[in-house]
Amino acid sequence: MPFVFAPPQQAVVPVQDERYEFFPIHRVYGIGKNYAEPGTVPSGTPFYFLKPADAVVPVADNESVAIPVPPGTNEMKHEIELVAALGKGGRNLTLEQAADAVWGWCVGIDFTLGDQRLDSGANDFMRGKAFDRSAPVSHIRPAYRTPMPAPADLWLYVNNQKRQSGSTANLIVKPLEVIVEISKFWELQPGDLIFTGTPGGASRVVPGDRLEGGVNGVGTIRVDIV
Ligand code: MN
Repeated sequence: MPFVFAPPQQAVVPVQDERYEFFPIHRVYGIGKNYAEPGTVPSGTPFYFLKPADAVVPVADNESVAIPVPPGTNEMKHEIELVAALGKGGRNLTLEQAADAVWGWCVGIDFTLGDQRLDSGANDFMRGKAFDRSAPVSHIRPAYRTPMPAPADLWLYVNNQKRQSGSTANLIVKPLEVIVEISKFWELQPGDLIFTGTPGGASRVVPGDRLEGGVNGVGTIRVDIV
């Protein structure tokens, strides 16, 4: 039966691999409020969210992509994160199964709008997290070449000034535990990307800002805010 219109192109991220070129994206999961300054009380309870697969923007090494500030916000923030790319799925994964499900790793920036509140006072996470081009990621390194650095150091500079510098060791829910937690509620699938949380220092960006961030042992990513 013919389609009403041509199906959209499969969202993909290039991979640094000899056998394969592209990682097809199924879903994009993330965790919020996953950070507390060491020795302080967290500002909230970690929660989970989805971004659309087509919000992902692959960024080649040594190149940069343009990310626009969406309309109606004065508080777009950067969150540098280690991102897991799953080659296997499942429900109720153990930590061991979560490690085995990871096909590779990349660096991502989970752009977040800090001012998306509804009149009711509730947060509008649809607008705050799932806006267009809100998820730039580096090309994916296969886990057999890039085992997860544990803990992983993350960093991000805006206009050559350090804004984020931390470690996945400071996350409340650690990267593989994030996968375990998500698998308790959703059935994970090959092609899922998991943003594992940012280690503090997320701050506002404005058009003209040039961002460079990275995860030691995994890679770097560059973005221009427009
Ligand atoms: Mn985040």
